[in-house]
Formats: sequence, C-alpha cells, structure tokens
Amino acid sequence: ELKRRGVNVVNFTWVGLDGYVRAKGAYIEHLEDMIKSGIGLTKAMFSFTPMDYISPLGSFGPQDQDVFLVPDVTTLTFTPPYASVICDLYDGDSPWFMDVRSRLRSVLQEVRKEGLEFMSGFEYEFYLVKDRKPFNDARCFDPQGMNEVVITKIVSSLKENGIDVLRVIKEYGPAQYEIDVSHRDSLRASDEFVMVKGIVKSEASNSGLEANFMPKPFNGLAGSGLHLNLSVWKENKNLFFSEGKLLSKFGMHFVGGILKHAKALTAIAAPTVNSYKRLRSGTWAPTKIAYGSNNKSAMIRIPTPYRGNQGNDSRLEYRVSDPSVNPYLVTLAVIAAGMDGVKEEIDPGLPVNENSYFKEDIPEIPRNLREALKELDKDVQLKRAVGERIVREFINVKMAEVEEYESRVTDWEYETYSKI
Ligand code: GLU
Ligand code: MG
Ligand code: MG
Repeated sequence: ELKRRGVNVVNFTWVGLDGYVRAKGAYIEHLEDMIKSGIGLTKAMFSFTPMDYISPLGSFGPQDQDVFLVPDVTTLTFTPPYASVICDLYDGDSPWFMDVRSRLRSVLQEVRKEGLEFMSGFEYEFYLVKDRKPFNDARCFDPQGMNEVVITKIVSSLKENGIDVLRVIKEYGPAQYEIDVSHRDSLRASDEFVMVKGIVKSEASNSGLEANFMPKPFNGLAGSGLHLNLSVWKENKNLFFSEGKLLSKFGMHFVGGILKHAKALTAIAAPTVNSYKRLRSGTWAPTKIAYGSNNKSAMIRIPTPYRGNQGNDSRLEYRVSDPSVNPYLVTLAVIAAGMDGVKEEIDPGLPVNENSYFKEDIPEIPRNLREALKELDKDVQLKRAVGERIVREFINVKMAEVEEYESRVTDWEYETYSKI
C-alpha cells in the first residue's frame, strides 16, 4: 500500500514533553525490520526543550540507554511522498514509564475495568500564514474564506486518513480557521491531534503556506485554542446526561474536580510562555476558574445540546487548552482531575452564567507559565494521578523555557524603555 501510494519514508512519530511532535524517518526498503525492532531513541528527548536543547534541570542526558520507537499501525497517515505513524516507547520489553501515550492507555484500561469509557474531541484552531502574516483577510464566518482551495485540500486529506471532520469554521482572526472532528475514545482522540496537526501542516506547506498552531501568533488578533470536549460513558450511556438538568450528579462532581485542580491543570493545558498571551480578558479564551451553561467566558462550558440529541451530546468543554499541548498529557490530567472530583463528590457550586471576565469575585487561573508550574508542583494529588516522574520532568523542561524567556529583552521593552 505504501509503495502503491508512492511513499518513500515513514516517520516514526512521538510527542515530547515540550509539546513538539517529532519523528525519525524509516526508509521503506527497511521498514519491516524497523517495525519489528523499533527505532532507538535517546531518553534525553524527554528532557528536550522547545529551544532544541536538553533542559539544564532535566533528568536525562547523553549517558542514558536508548528506548525504542515501536509503531502503532492503526495511526498511519499518508501525506505522500511520506507517511507517518505514532509510536509507543519501549524500554526493553515493556512500555517506558515516561511514555505519556502508554501511560494514558494504561489509565484508560484501568477505568475500563469499572466499565468506564472516556470520549474526547478536540477543536483545532490555527492560522494559515505566509511570510509571517495571515495569508488572507477573510473575516469571521466568511464563506469565501472557508472554501479556500487549501482548506478543501486539507479537509479531503483529513478524511482520506480516517479523520471524521464535522465542521470547518472561518474563525475570528484573518486566515484563522477551526476544524472540528467527531469524538473518539480518548486515546484515539489524542492520536488524532498528532495526525491532524501533521496533515494540516503538510497540506498547507504543499500550498506554499505555513499552518501556525501557536496559541497567540499575532498582536491584537484572536488566539488559537484547542478546546477539549469530554464525556464519560458506561454501558453505552452517557454518564454526564440527566434529563432536564445541565449535567448529571456524576458530571457535576467531575466539573468540581477540574475546578479544584484548575490552577495546576493550567500548566499542562497552556504549556508555553506564549499560551498566557492568549488567556486574556475579552478574547473568548478563559481567565477565571468557573463553569457555566454555554458561557464562553468560563473555563468550562457545558454546551447546549443539539436539538433532539441531548442524551448522547452531554459533555463538558474545557477551554483553557491550546494547540501547544502534549495531547496525551492534557487528556490524562483533565481525566485525573475530574475523577478526583467524582471520588470526593466535589460540589462545583452554581454555574456562572454572566460574562465572567470582569467579575472580580471569581478566582483567576495562573497568569503566566512560571506561576502555573508552581501550582502544578504544589498539587501532589494531581501529580501522582498523572504520573509523578512524567510531571516532574515536564516541570524540568518547562522551567528551562521560562528561564530562557524571562532573560530575553523584547522589542516592546526596547521601544518602551530605551529613552527612559
Ligand atoms: N479562539 C478562542 C480561544 O482561543 C475561542 C473562540 C471560540 O469560542 O471558538 O479559545
Ligand atoms: Mg473556535
Ligand atoms: Mg469551542
């Protein structure tokens, strides 16, 4: 099949704690061997920063033994002349404890023993960019902007690769788009994040454009979020649904857990220094620790169910996350927080149904990455549920990013202070 479709290289792909999707390319002539043996990868990749060097605080270095990238063929995507496949990381014969994808799989298997199934769907927002500028000036919901040739190509490639596209939206910003996909079991949904990002980037690049998934690429223009829609199922019933109510008791407790761990979660859901430039008042990205009924200023929105489809449609939309996340990690963390709420029967209080941006009595999520990482470090319970070593290393990697960023002098500072 690969040969028939003119594929020469298969990218053995993984997502680092820095949020970057990275890969090693296997040439097709040697593919069968490499599928069996895996491809060696230095553990230090899990101390790697977005600046492409190992964090000075990191736990892994050049002295460490390799782990192995072992492909999961159910995640194969074709973007000729290459294909990509997502890998598990093996240390000897078992999954490596730092492998976030394997960790998510094992957590989902654990809850499956109690009959629980997690379903999620990400909403993908991004800009199409040329020479560091939005490539068109199409306005919000502009039909012409929506039907650009490049968008048609992106959507057909997504569909050919098994992604069930629901909607394309011309978002607020010029050349900013949103693609929504059907919900899937939470492991598959996280895999689809990697697949979608790869396909969108590759199709954009075939059209001479860059798909930009930064949370806030441009001053004064809308940021790009990655809203996470989540529901929990048992025996094919949506546990969030309760006739005539916003959410079931189970759902309410789940929301209570997310609110309880909201500050720590922010570090994982908004994991770059750039993320916090998106999370500003009035932008439709959240700033406050609140949930609401269809309230887009709240951190958790309980969307109005589609007409006639209420039972299946009950879900929560966690709005803090942005496309710079590691999808496995944010899914793990939101599930862990929610399930703590279920276990402890945490009451989330009343929904906030007003515009919460300027309501001073509602506590805020952290305002920058340093603050968020400190909150994550303090949340011992969440760290344990997500995986202690994984979170510790995540903090090690991300603190290096904060240190580097905070030591840089920006253009804005020079323009503002140079004549002082
Ligand atoms: N772009 C907004 C964000 O950063 C979301 C807009 C919307 O509600 O779709 O979260
Ligand atoms: Mg949107
Ligand atoms: Mg949304």
